[in-house]
Amino acid sequence: ATLFAAVEMAPRDPILGLNEQFNADPNPNKVNLGVGVYYDDNGKLPLLKCVAAAEKQMLEAPKARGYLPIDGIAAYDRAVQTLVFGADSAAVKDGRIATVQGIGGTGGLKIGADFLKKLNPNAQVLISDPSWENHRALFESAGFTVGTYAYYDAAKRGINFDGLLTSLNAAAAGTVVVLHACCHNPTGYDLSAEQWKQVVELLKARSLVPFLDMAYQGFGEGIAEDGAVIGLFLASGLDFFVSTSFSKSFSLYGERVGALSVVAQSKDDADRVLSQLKRVIRTNYSNPPTHGAQVVATVLTTPELRQLWEQELAEMRVRIKQMRGQLVEKLRSAGVKQDMSFVTTQKGMFSYSGLSKEQMQRLRSEFGVYGVDSGRICVAALNSKNIDYVTACIAKVC
Ligand code: PMP
Repeated sequence: ATLFAAVEMAPRDPILGLNEQFNADPNPNKVNLGVGVYYDDNGKLPLLKCVAAAEKQMLEAPKARGYLPIDGIAAYDRAVQTLVFGADSAAVKDGRIATVQGIGGTGGLKIGADFLKKLNPNAQVLISDPSWENHRALFESAGFTVGTYAYYDAAKRGINFDGLLTSLNAAAAGTVVVLHACCHNPTGYDLSAEQWKQVVELLKARSLVPFLDMAYQGFGEGIAEDGAVIGLFLASGLDFFVSTSFSKSFSLYGERVGALSVVAQSKDDADRVLSQLKRVIRTNYSNPPTHGAQVVATVLTTPELRQLWEQELAEMRVRIKQMRGQLVEKLRSAGVKQDMSFVTTQKGMFSYSGLSKEQMQRLRSEFGVYGVDSGRICVAALNSKNIDYVTACIAKVC
């Protein structure tokens, strides 16, 4: 037998499989709502003006590309801290946060997972039911056993909050709880401020370890509004983790720009944590790439570019909200009897549409409208040209 004879074929990524099916579909009206990216009203992936401007500046003063420090560009790490925790936060001022540049949000999560595994090898990890499909695989590949806490309530079209509290109450001390800071993927349902307060208290009372995944800051209600939950955690005095992704908020998916921040109770703790995070990075990929983080740092720290970014992010957010509103409106006028208004209470790029697997399959095979079998659709892939077709098709399968 050859060395690789016993290698099993790994399961296909379900969403990439959907993309392949979509690309092969000859239907001229086809629409891909299975993706996890923001498209503009022309169905194009945007290149933000603030990004192009920062790149122009960088090109005009080209620099040699030496190795970055293991934890990344210092100005970038500082800009991430300021954005996520606020320039005036005591934790930032006291040096109680260890922030490292990551290879996208995924990289930030993985650095945190590898560090946590060394810190507490027997801890369990809990993710929401359902969650971003890579959460489970990522923490499992770091060596953890991954369970779930109750989250989505299909009948209620919302959050099973009592179930969530029950799940967290049953978790052993030291359990790592992965929470979506805003714009929950895949459901679109976020906790209310009041519910967050209760969750923070419970995490603290039960000595659980919060790991906030912030992949969509600015896509819900605004940069500050979506980041408000971080303030609650800071005020709680808990030790906690935050992964950051700029893939969506800067439309820089392929540049892999993200970060991990670990909030500690003293600078001394944070310094030792940082030394260990660097060790994780060093043994995985040595040090991060330069370009994307330099773009983001330039935009975040140049007042005019920062303002432009906030405008462009607001445009993306507002367009998504318009699509949510129109989806509900157009389904109603197309004669759909069910109340679909829950779509406008959801936040971020995704919507759990409430459509069944059978309905999603019919949408694909009969109409070329591609969403995930779970009923998840990407609202950010709807636009003024395809929304009438999509709503007409949904109405037909309802
Ligand atoms: N967390 C969540 C909830 C996500 O949806 C995503 C990406 N879709 C990520 C993390 C990873 O982001 P990145 O592409 O920056 O690695």
